[in-house]
Amino acid sequence: MIGQRLFRARKAAGLSLRELGAQIGLTHAAIKKYEDGLSAPTSTTLLKLSRALNVRTEYFFRGETVALDCIEYRKRSSLPKKRLDAIEHEVIDQIERRIELENLFPKPPVVPFTPVQKLPTQITDLNQIESVVEVVRQAWDLGYDPIPDLIDVLETHGIRVFMIDANTDPKFDGLAATVNQMPIIVVGSNWPGDRQRFTLAHELGHLMLAGRLADGIDEEMASNRFAGAFLIPRKSVEQELGTHRSYIEPKELSLLKEEFGLSMAGILYRARDLSIVTPAWRDEQARLFRLKGWHLTEPGKRYPAEKAHVFEQMVFHALAEDYIGESKAAELMKISLTAFQTVRALEGSDAATHQ
Ligand SMILES: [Zn+2]
Repeated sequence: MIGQRLFRARKAAGLSLRELGAQIGLTHAAIKKYEDGLSAPTSTTLLKLSRALNVRTEYFFRGETVALDCIEYRKRSSLPKKRLDAIEHEVIDQIERRIELENLFPKPPVVPFTPVQKLPTQITDLNQIESVVEVVRQAWDLGYDPIPDLIDVLETHGIRVFMIDANTDPKFDGLAATVNQMPIIVVGSNWPGDRQRFTLAHELGHLMLAGRLADGIDEEMASNRFAGAFLIPRKSVEQELGTHRSYIEPKELSLLKEEFGLSMAGILYRARDLSIVTPAWRDEQARLFRLKGWHLTEPGKRYPAEKAHVFEQMVFHALAEDYIGESKAAELMKISLTAFQTVRALEGSDAATHQ
């Protein structure tokens, strides 16, 4: 068991056998033997391994519970295989801790995901996605209002959301997958809120549209359309902008962004997709955005980042009800006992969270 876990932690750290060996003063062959289960590390070596790999020693003894299926990386651009492996392993580690924690509750703390009923079985035209979104919003009691806390909405409906630090990966936006038949969505923690929200809604699109798209409908485009519509449904766009416009002030876009948490560029797409403005006008605006550098950073206040607080809340819930003790809580949160006690006492910053 240690072998597999060691392999996974090493991949997550992005280290070769040789690099890991060098860090703890062993040969690559010795590490390989541990991974293949041909020999077992002593407790001193295990401690060195856990330090080098930034995991707690308990990690090596955890049972295998998780495999990712149907992974969908946003194909905006390609990440090197090594980084994809590391991301996947980081995600699996978070999911394992989440599942372990959930299993410590006497009653499941999360509602199971149930597919939304009455979705069209086949989508032959991107415009149909507007009504898909209406069905989902109705099933989830969302009306036409802005969604201030998107992660909360997803979690409430049984879609577990995980965040990974993708600061070093400008190319990683997010992914949707299923784990033991449960849908999960992963998003980078460092992006501005509007980008995270688009990614979350895009990945939700993949989950909702899977198996429904007719041949010739591009799944990425369909998921993008879903994302825009989910964040600001047709009715709201028309209410805010009207049904036909010859020009839209940038300040209007900026105010709408603040309200609905979709980027100004995203709102321009919405206006075009709903035939409020012409495609030519949208293209011209996109050109102006590029000239002003707004395609990289939009003007005005940065939309606040989404927060994944469910895991941490669950840890403290479990602690409060004595389902777990402090040391288990620290282990689940991947921090030292001392650091955990500081967090528990509401001292210091909240930088210790790993979710
Ligand atoms: Zn996608």
